[in-house]
Amino acid sequence: MTVLTSLPPSAGDLGSPLRFADAASARAHLAAQGVQYVLAQFVDIHGVAKAKSVPLAHLETVLTDGAGFAGFAIWGVGIEPHGPDFMAVGDLGTISLVPWQPGLARIVCEGHVNGEPWPFDSRVMLRAQLDRLTANGWTMFTGLEPEFSLLKRGINGQIAPCDPSDTLAKPCYDYKGLSRTRVFLERLSNALRATGIDVYQIDHEDANGQFEMNYTYTDALTSCDHFVFFKMAACEIAHELGLICSFMPKPFAHLPGNGMHMHLSIGSLDKGGKRNLFEDKTDKRGLHLSTMAYHFLGGLLAHAPALAALCAPTVNSYKRLVVGRSLTGSTWAPAYIAYGDNNRSAMVRVPKGRLELRLPDGACNPYLATAGVLAAGLDGIARQLDPGEPRNVNLYEWSDAQLREAGIGLLPQNLLAALDALQADSVICAALGPLAGEFLKLKRMEWVEYMRHVSDWETRTYLEFF
Ligand code: GLU
Ligand code: MG
Repeated sequence: MTVLTSLPPSAGDLGSPLRFADAASARAHLAAQGVQYVLAQFVDIHGVAKAKSVPLAHLETVLTDGAGFAGFAIWGVGIEPHGPDFMAVGDLGTISLVPWQPGLARIVCEGHVNGEPWPFDSRVMLRAQLDRLTANGWTMFTGLEPEFSLLKRGINGQIAPCDPSDTLAKPCYDYKGLSRTRVFLERLSNALRATGIDVYQIDHEDANGQFEMNYTYTDALTSCDHFVFFKMAACEIAHELGLICSFMPKPFAHLPGNGMHMHLSIGSLDKGGKRNLFEDKTDKRGLHLSTMAYHFLGGLLAHAPALAALCAPTVNSYKRLVVGRSLTGSTWAPAYIAYGDNNRSAMVRVPKGRLELRLPDGACNPYLATAGVLAAGLDGIARQLDPGEPRNVNLYEWSDAQLREAGIGLLPQNLLAALDALQADSVICAALGPLAGEFLKLKRMEWVEYMRHVSDWETRTYLEFF
């Protein structure tokens, strides 16, 4: 794997996010940086990046009318072939260079139709939800933690970890595994840091070929923009090295899956968001959580089955959220609707003064997942929901009877159950607006398609059994 162990291309210094007063100053700055094209980028309902490449001279159009797309060609934007165009209008505050492709910049866009923000666009919808916080003088912060698999295809087309020597039974934090993928990891980290995304830790995770890269939390909308940018960077840098970077929740049945844990807090706007309203050091449970944070947590637990559909939105997601110990001995993904102190076997871990929701995986649309989480938390605050006492035990070791007695529910164990829970949850569906129906329709189609498939397991188990 010489290609992966050669020296990284740049120092990884932290750049500043680009901020411009208007389109003309943005264009002048980008031209001076050698930018020739701007990606006018948004996401479809699945959170997948879609874009048009726009010559820099036409940046103003992206910021005013927007770049035009045939809406019917995009998943989940609710436009028929005879409908109006979906116009991707750039947000001036989101321009960044694309360091892995010099000469290119990216601007995050929102969908407009007939001159109005389009409620089927998940970023438009999330911003409307975040406005509910602003009205209260609050702002929401999230830190999204990307886990991913770095793989390659063998000559027969089979998928395997990119580093053939990455075979340990318990590979988490392994030095050799980290060292042997250094070129990819540092190219990725350097690219992100150059745009002001402050990567602060990188590790080999608990599955062979699995890694995590952490960067500093930001306001919830920017965190989603960053997560999408992270995926764009990771997938393209891997591709250039002849590798596959996958955010599939469970690429290998016998290994831990790829999560996207969401760290959450609410800040007070009067202190520029700097006063963490989730933190209270006098908390009698010792978790440093305020009453508001407990109520928000109560909302997360109450709406957990519906949130599963948004946070773990694929058939494959539920292979990650299964009950029972993992083969590495470290089960990490949650199966039970509970919270605990530093408890990684619960759906919510409390690393003091904030919440870590462990439910989301790398396949979620971060805008949709964040909006659902916010709606659940705000409902918890409005109804002063009590999350009960923290569970500081290994929940994987508990019997069904113990769990039942403690009143601890199980997360949906497949996509269909999660979709049914979402459809039945009027609070979360109301927050999503028309996207709820669109999401349910497409995801039910995905489930039916999956159910029409006969797996190897079924053939092996049933072919000659009866
Ligand atoms: N990979 C685990 C998951 O699927 C999480 C491991 C960790 O806590 O970092 O959620
Ligand atoms: Mg991790």
